[in-house]
Amino acid sequence: MSENYNDNIDNKDENDKDDEYEKYCYLCRRPESVAGKLIDMPGGISICPDCMQKTFDNFNNSGLGSMQFLDLSNLSNMGNLDMSQLFKNDIPDKQKVKKKAAKPKKEEPELTLQTIPAPHKIKAMLDEYVIGQEYAKKVISVAVYNHYKRVLTNTMDDIEIEKSNMLMVGPTGCGKTYLVKTIAKLLNVPLAITDATTLTEAGYIGDDVESVLSKLLAVADNDVEKAERGIVFIDEIDKIAKKRNTNSRDVSGESVQQGLLKLLEGADVEVPVGSGSKNAMVPLTTINTRNILFICGGAFPDIEEIIKERLNKQASMGFKADLKDKYDDNPNLLRELTNDDLREFGMIPEFLGRLPILFTLDALDKDMYVKILKEPKNAILKQYKKLLALDEVDLCFDDSAYEEIAAQAMEKKTGARALRAIIEKFMLDIMYQIPRDDNIGRVTITGDYIRGTGSPLIEMRGVERLPG
Ligand code: ADP
Repeated sequence: MSENYNDNIDNKDENDKDDEYEKYCYLCRRPESVAGKLIDMPGGISICPDCMQKTFDNFNNSGLGSMQFLDLSNLSNMGNLDMSQLFKNDIPDKQKVKKKAAKPKKEEPELTLQTIPAPHKIKAMLDEYVIGQEYAKKVISVAVYNHYKRVLTNTMDDIEIEKSNMLMVGPTGCGKTYLVKTIAKLLNVPLAITDATTLTEAGYIGDDVESVLSKLLAVADNDVEKAERGIVFIDEIDKIAKKRNTNSRDVSGESVQQGLLKLLEGADVEVPVGSGSKNAMVPLTTINTRNILFICGGAFPDIEEIIKERLNKQASMGFKADLKDKYDDNPNLLRELTNDDLREFGMIPEFLGRLPILFTLDALDKDMYVKILKEPKNAILKQYKKLLALDEVDLCFDDSAYEEIAAQAMEKKTGARALRAIIEKFMLDIMYQIPRDDNIGRVTITGDYIRGTGSPLIEMRGVERLPG
């Protein structure tokens, strides 16, 4: 008797903890939001109406039909079989779906038809963070606006608005990921970023294509509705191109492209909750990808050659044949990119067809690097300035410093990503030494200091600013 009493206390604690999460059917493992109201059984287990019905049907079919009703209330008294122990910790919390009603903490403003900003406003917000890339910012603002209008109206039955999935092409470190991250943050929608190189066809070692939806669900706090309005960014998409100029049949990249087709178009996909892989022990939930915005990005190295070849071929057919090498030094050749070039690169037509919005980003030039250092709302140098301002030290950079950082970053050829490494290297000494001396009022970083041929200019505080 006393043992039973203790068990009840244990169960109560478990139940309190479980309040936050959805209950699962212990037979089919669907959450309550999918399976319908669950029937609570003794021993802390729950069963959905479908499974309950199936159980009764099985009884009937197996000749036990004459049995009136199973007295379920006696289940917990069945000998030594203790159901609560049997199912205890069956599903870890991180694999459960959060209840929809249980909205945590403060309400974040949800995107609605009334609150979705017009394209020019989205672009203006992007301008505060992303330097240059005017064309890309314009395209993405319009596409995202249209996409969410389509998602939020849901009344466009006769004129189905096409899904605005996008493909963005641009050199490494020019702001592709940053653009997507910024837009997801501005619109307050969940964003999952994945790398196409890690994706494999189902059944092979690696993540199968559906794992991106698991990630999205995790980012959306296991809230299926929220995830269904999210953004999935698939980076390095050029790495799953078919190999060109080989005699052997290359299936790996192509089959991943094939695998992505149904996700891009819109399908109901069973997704493991809280884990990347499906297996018997992981609960599943269904996500519909129809309203998920897919954005693919890639550098497509050397695709300029393909563009040049195509343009030259077109030119040589007409009277412009004499201008054969006129594209050789064109820095903006990438802007001429078409679907044909991407197909030639190794993307399959069905895949490209599901990414109707194609646009390119420009390689960063020196001016852009300098602007990236100075202008974005969260520019790294601004962050250091703020840190030192807390010590009442004014951190300044003269023009030669900006120029030198930009020049060093350009040499690395990894885009704006190189900036952080360069800055962190020379800022380490500053951040270490300056707080040592309370009298320092201003530090000016010069190009010479960054080159390693000089020191920063240090100014002491004026007498009036000295304490006491
Ligand atoms: P990729 O194009 O390879 O996806 P990222 O978007 O990851 O490059 O860029 C790396 C970092 O460089 C970003 O986190 C961002 O801080 C900075 N960056 C790149 N391009 C820009 C840009 N146009 N404006 C402002 N910052 C940028």
